[in-house]
Amino acid sequence: MGSLRDCTWILGLADYRVTGVERGEDGRLMLEVERKGLHRFTCSGCGCRTGHVRDAKLRTWDDVPWAEHPVTLRYRLRRLWCRRCGIRTERVGFADSHARLTRRFRQRIGLDCQSMPTSHAAVRHAVSWGAARRAERTFLTAWDRTRPKHRPRHLGADEIQRGKGQRFWTVLSDLVRGEVIGLEKDRSEDSLRTLLTTRLDARQRAAVHAVCTEMHRPYVNVVAEVLPRAETVFDKFHVLQHASAALDDVRRQEFFRAGAVMRAHGRGKRWLLLRRWATVRGSKRRELETLFAANRRLFKAYVLREQLDRLWTYKTRRGVLDFLLGWIKALRWQRLPEMERLGEFLFRHVEGIAAYCDHRVRFGVVESINTTIKAVLRRARGMRDEAMLVLKLKWATARPLRSARDVARFLHPETVHSNR
Ligand SMILES: [Zn+2]
Repeated sequence: MGSLRDCTWILGLADYRVTGVERGEDGRLMLEVERKGLHRFTCSGCGCRTGHVRDAKLRTWDDVPWAEHPVTLRYRLRRLWCRRCGIRTERVGFADSHARLTRRFRQRIGLDCQSMPTSHAAVRHAVSWGAARRAERTFLTAWDRTRPKHRPRHLGADEIQRGKGQRFWTVLSDLVRGEVIGLEKDRSEDSLRTLLTTRLDARQRAAVHAVCTEMHRPYVNVVAEVLPRAETVFDKFHVLQHASAALDDVRRQEFFRAGAVMRAHGRGKRWLLLRRWATVRGSKRRELETLFAANRRLFKAYVLREQLDRLWTYKTRRGVLDFLLGWIKALRWQRLPEMERLGEFLFRHVEGIAAYCDHRVRFGVVESINTTIKAVLRRARGMRDEAMLVLKLKWATARPLRSARDVARFLHPETVHSNR
């Protein structure tokens, strides 16, 4: 063992020095620490300094390990006479009040919890599950409180399904940065209204230009009510899902009506038929071609679905409307009632589809946020604590760690702040 000065250097706490080293049981290192310059102490109530010490008590904190040895800091914690607060304990620089872990140790556990289940992080750092969860909660809350408040230009309001039942949740996200803003039970008007009014302040709401939602009446109503200046843009993937559903209806009709030839070709083709032509390759393409040769109506419906992609290629709203009218017109003598219904449906929602001309919302971000949410839920093996889940989702989608400097900022023993 080197000198105590070396130990102080290794410990690396700015205002504290090591005054004694002991070997505890099971390889634990007990470090006596003392303040450098023992003149005045900081009151934990008001933060002012005083030299009036009433008494002192030994307290311990677990700290980050030295090589294989877990470390415990032992320090004589003073109780002070403060002029403003009365009797108070002193504030220590390396830990929060009442905490049993030093701040940097807590940060390390909290950080690990973002890439592994809490139970794994607890085992890895030899703390209880409860301690790891508390560390994680403090870590995430502190991060969320100190990060800058962005003003999102494009919002996304989407529903996700959790669990096996029909339990839906509404997710509000910032589509420009690709971050989750909040999560609320249900997919009603109330849930989105709560999200928009409590998760965003008036300045943030005023900055919103467009909200990307699916064609779900309650969402559209609330956007018009809470954000009168923002426009609703319908999510491309949801529009195309409706088109695929119509195509599937055509397939089902044809399959049941047609004779043996069609049944032989059409069996087990559902997923193939729902795929986009551009993603179908080789022998699968030939399978589709045989199917289309056997049934012209199915072919027509497939082509019509493929054409809908062009709705998002126009620069003007006029162009979108003209294209849709042309598309509906082409249906006229086809005897495809499923596609006609789809045409009417699209026509009723054309305003929100054409709004994409003015607000180039990033549709892909909506999907990628959903994927991240599912990944976080799976890693947490389901999560009952909702506030915690929202914090975890915010962290996972905001990606605050992008360089070694970011990590160092989070693991610093004294201050915790984030620039993201
Ligand atoms: Zn005080």
